[in-house]
Amino acid sequence: TDTSAAGAVAGDLRLVNVTKRFGDFTAVRDLTLTIPQGSFFALLGASGCGKTTTLRMVSGLEEPTAGRVLIGDRDITRLRPYKRPVNTVFQNYALFPHLTITDNIAFGLKRRGVKDVRKPVQDMLDLIELSHIGARKPNQLSGGQQQRVALGRALINQPQVLLLDEPLGALDLKLRRQMQIELKRIQTEVGLTFVHVTHDQEEAMTMADTIAVMNLGRVEQLGSPTDLYENPKTTFVANFLGQSNLLPGKASGTVGEHQQVTLEDGTRVLIPSARNNASGDDVIVGVRPEKVSVHASIGEVPDGRNVLTGGVIVDTSFVGVSTQYIVKASGCDELGVFVQNDGAQIFRPGSDVVVSWDPSQGFGLDGKQDIEAG
Ligand code: ATP
Repeated sequence: TDTSAAGAVAGDLRLVNVTKRFGDFTAVRDLTLTIPQGSFFALLGASGCGKTTTLRMVSGLEEPTAGRVLIGDRDITRLRPYKRPVNTVFQNYALFPHLTITDNIAFGLKRRGVKDVRKPVQDMLDLIELSHIGARKPNQLSGGQQQRVALGRALINQPQVLLLDEPLGALDLKLRRQMQIELKRIQTEVGLTFVHVTHDQEEAMTMADTIAVMNLGRVEQLGSPTDLYENPKTTFVANFLGQSNLLPGKASGTVGEHQQVTLEDGTRVLIPSARNNASGDDVIVGVRPEKVSVHASIGEVPDGRNVLTGGVIVDTSFVGVSTQYIVKASGCDELGVFVQNDGAQIFRPGSDVVVSWDPSQGFGLDGKQDIEAG
């Protein structure tokens, strides 16, 4: 995991060896992370992994037990929250109920003694697309509109870093999807660093340039959404971002440019050989359900694909754009393989099948780890 703070430029947000303990419980462990200026960065992880604590150390609501927080070269570790060039948008909005939308947004500027707030407030109302209802009070707005006001109120202070703590958590699914696109648009337009905390992998994948997957107070893996999805390094990441089939086996040489792995029942499959395992090493073969195909017989499988024979369909579910199958086949454990095929459902439970995938579309993981549920 590359979380080094090297190569930083002015304005990057940096956490250097940050640890936070509550009594003898360690919520964040020796975290080193560089968040490039102007990026949309997501801290993704299950409840309790330390995301919020990390965010609170950036905003100043929590002081690290050890380590430093910097923006560019400026050490802000012990700076009071209001003195930091950082603002936070919370899930519960925290708007002033007695003020209009316009006045909620103008609040930070007025408090700082800015004389003419009319133009910046109007620009902000335009940015969040609420100009037409600036005279309303918060209780006359929908949840999504209130969230945009909270965003506008934070952005008008022109922080260097905007922290978003599960900001869409209170919205229903459809509105959340709309707001994800909206947030991304606004971030691109203002070009500020956004650090977004969420436990929703789809949300992180939709919006972020870079995602840090957190687990037990550490960054488990850092990368772009595609990178994490296509090349997870741990079973936790493989399972946390989408669904993965994980088949344990041992490295057994190379075939062309691929690494060969012998699964527990003797079935041989290939993975991209970036890992260079020595023969005999434990390797977990991973493949995403949508990369796997189901066939009625081995004769239908195109050359060069990995094949698991002796399959039986144990479950099918039609979910509109695709059909999902669970197939028990050679080389996999009692859970079987998950397959997601587009098109109509053509196999019924009990059908004998073969499954296959292109070796370049799978991935290999270090086999000396438990298969952890994400
Ligand atoms: P969630 O999504 O549920 O907010 P999270 O990943 O943001 O989870 P944190 O809120 O950072 O997790 O908490 C990390 C761990 O630290 C949790 O186990 C939590 O119980 C513990 N913790 C957080 N704040 C305190 C505190 N003030 N005192 C003691 N333990 C705390």
